[in-house]
Amino acid sequence: MDVQKLEHLYEGKAKKVYKTNDPDLYWIEYKDDATAFNGEKKGTIMNKGVLNNKISTHFFKLLESKGITSHLVRQVNDREQIVKAVEIILVEVVVRNIAAGSLSKRIGLPEGTMLPKTVLEYYYKDDALGDPLINDYHIQTLNLATPEQMNYIADVALKVNEILREYLRDKKIDLIDFKLEFGTHKGDVILADEISPDTCRFWDVETKEKLDKDRFRRDMGNVEEAYQEVLKRLTGSAE
Ligand code: UDP
Repeated sequence: MDVQKLEHLYEGKAKKVYKTNDPDLYWIEYKDDATAFNGEKKGTIMNKGVLNNKISTHFFKLLESKGITSHLVRQVNDREQIVKAVEIILVEVVVRNIAAGSLSKRIGLPEGTMLPKTVLEYYYKDDALGDPLINDYHIQTLNLATPEQMNYIADVALKVNEILREYLRDKKIDLIDFKLEFGTHKGDVILADEISPDTCRFWDVETKEKLDKDRFRRDMGNVEEAYQEVLKRLTGSAE
């Protein structure tokens, strides 16, 4: 049975989600809209939707080949993917190898400081609260996920880090940090959302040039070019 895109279900900051004729599948459209600082800064990054769709598909396929299941079923076209329908777990998982962004602000380690051990953080996915930092106790208090689900999520997040870090090193990119989201599909926890320059910090190994959304957050210019550069290093082609 051919999968057909049906009615619009939900619009997020970077993607639109549609139902399909199969209740187990959603249809996702990547947008060019960019936001930062909990939606306070808004803009457009030309072609971001196309670039992130391709980059995220590339990473999810790489992870699948290493035994990590994600919601990705297949890329349909430049801007769209078919994914498994999940209920998103309201915990954003951040993995950090090198200090940057909010970690540098929170604990005073200058950006670029190598962390002696990988740092795992959880944030409560709640716009009204500004996505606060939470821990396992808060997660249990709010009943966001079970302890077993959190053990699994932590394990997968650290594995994803090892796989992406090694892979990107070969492409002369340092993986500074990234954010993952997980969802439940037929009772199983699977990796969801996207992995892209919107959700990761990528620095050129040699020059330390930023190849990610910090260029938008910090008005550094050449944002689209940086995303293009990431795609080019991953796939060998810019489009
Ligand atoms: N991140 C994200 N979505 C968010 C917050 C953070 O994708 O809502 C990513 C961000 O791109 C970075 C990592 O998670 O790769 C850590 O972000 P940080 O906590 O330093 O927050 P920021 O400085 O971006 O506010």
